[in-house]
Amino acid sequence: MKLQITFLSLLLLTLFSSVSSATTIHLIFESGFTDEFDSGGEWEALYDDIDEIKDEIEDIVDADYLAYGIGASLTSGDIPVCIGRTLTSYGGSSGIGAFYSSSVPDTAYINVEKFADQSALQGVLATIERIGRALGGTASHEVGHLLNLRHVYSYDSYDPYYDYQVIEGGVPTEQTELSDDNKNHFAIDSKTLKYNLMTSGGIIDTTERAETDRDFSKYSDAVLVFGLNGGGSISGHVGLSDTVDLNLVWGGELTVSSNITVDSDNKLYLSPNTTLKMNSGKTITINGEITVCSGVLFTKSSTNWDGIIINNGGTMTLNSLGGTIAKKIEYATTGVTINANSSTPIDNGVYTLTIDNCTTGMTIYNSTATIQNISFDNITDDAIEIDYSSSDPTIDAVSIYDGEYGIDIHSSADATLTDSELEGMDEDNIYFENSAGIDMNGGHNDVTRTSGKHAINNARPSTVFINVNYNYWNGETTLSD
Ligand SMILES: [Zn+2]
Repeated sequence: MKLQITFLSLLLLTLFSSVSSATTIHLIFESGFTDEFDSGGEWEALYDDIDEIKDEIEDIVDADYLAYGIGASLTSGDIPVCIGRTLTSYGGSSGIGAFYSSSVPDTAYINVEKFADQSALQGVLATIERIGRALGGTASHEVGHLLNLRHVYSYDSYDPYYDYQVIEGGVPTEQTELSDDNKNHFAIDSKTLKYNLMTSGGIIDTTERAETDRDFSKYSDAVLVFGLNGGGSISGHVGLSDTVDLNLVWGGELTVSSNITVDSDNKLYLSPNTTLKMNSGKTITINGEITVCSGVLFTKSSTNWDGIIINNGGTMTLNSLGGTIAKKIEYATTGVTINANSSTPIDNGVYTLTIDNCTTGMTIYNSTATIQNISFDNITDDAIEIDYSSSDPTIDAVSIYDGEYGIDIHSSADATLTDSELEGMDEDNIYFENSAGIDMNGGHNDVTRTSGKHAINNARPSTVFINVNYNYWNGETTLSD
């Protein structure tokens, strides 16, 4: 869909930057703009200055996006801004500007008539500078929305994790609906707020638009940098002061061309239906926390990516915000790797995480973690691989419907298995090596072996604890042919 197109363009920019021009905002002046300069128009007296005003708007948008490698042009570009469009034909908006990410390509609109009707831009107040600043700033604002920015990001220290009142249905709340507590927490004085390009319409008036040079806040800057770089480190982004911990929120679609690392003190919040399309070999490393709302999809952009790595202290938290669409990890070499984790690396609540179409579903190294509510489908090699002597994870309420081996426990590792279902393996459901062990005394496992293969293959002498009375073997009393 929409944002994908924007970032696909940016990706092409990355690939071909040495031979092509940068991604460009195309400023398209329509009759709604030029009419104001014709006979009877509000800006008739400025008829001879119309090109200068266009240049002024171009300069302002250009300056706003200079740091991000995006330019503005009057003749061509990738992101259209229709200046002069009446917005009522696009969903009845009566505002001064709008953006539509349901059109292709994503397009921003400016209702020039709404500006010309304001006394702050009439008579002696109708100058090249004032009109340019008002329209240019609004153009940059609407393009900002197309690049995943929201009004509430006009606070430098916006934090999606602070007091969940800022999250409605899994997305950042409107700036005008922030509680006083939120406003105080994201403290910034009201005058400064007006200098931020993403501040919402009710907070800045036409006079201020005409007289104020505006810029992106530090939080907007961090979101833009994350998106335009195709991911990156969630820690101290350039420009953020030491006192601001960056907990980044992301929504929409993003082609990820950098490894994403969430540092131990930071968090990444993925709004409902976010799609991260990972480039070949890229990883997401969680040392802090990632929150996953409904419908979040981690997938490949072309060939397989390398998956999510959850290190000691890292957590992936699943929540219910945004509906009931599955949360899925697919097309990775290893869907999830869990390293030295002794707590709850995947905090599911009651929600199932699906790991689909991966080579290996999950590897668990040196961990005593509890893994639960995960469904493995279309796995090529092992669904779950457990290794190293200090590994003794508890695997609960897991469904494995495909794979070479369902659970492969390497030498000296242990595991506890409860309430899980294993069926449809190419080889054995559970396989373990020398000195490995599995404790199924908790029972309630439902294991159906493939004909000619083993439900449990204790191929080499191992420590085995199984209470068959409380497990179901598809009615069989012999667990192998
Ligand atoms: Zn807006």
